Amino acid sequence: MKAGETVQQTGLYRVSHAGHRPTHEAILWEGEFFPTCRTCGNGAGFEFLRSIPQADEFEHVGYDGDFLDSVLAAWDHDSSRLSA
Ligand SMILES: [Zn+2]
Repeated sequence: MKAGETVQQTGLYRVSHAGHRPTHEAILWEGEFFPTCRTCGNGAGFEFLRSIPQADEFEHVGYDGDFLDSVLAAWDHDSSRLSA
């Protein structure tokens, strides 16, 4: 999956970047968009690994500095739509 597509399944994803950092893992929720990376933009790729484990050992992708801006922008968009 690529940035901008809709998340089809809540779970743990492997996140890859266009060369500027190693792959890492993050949680994404069904119905939100895969965020763009502040460094490689749409070069970020997402691969579903498994459902969210019971242990809270992984964080939502929005806590990752590379994706924070993109995730927050999507949330702002949602809230403005709801209040319109
Ligand atoms: Zn990146």
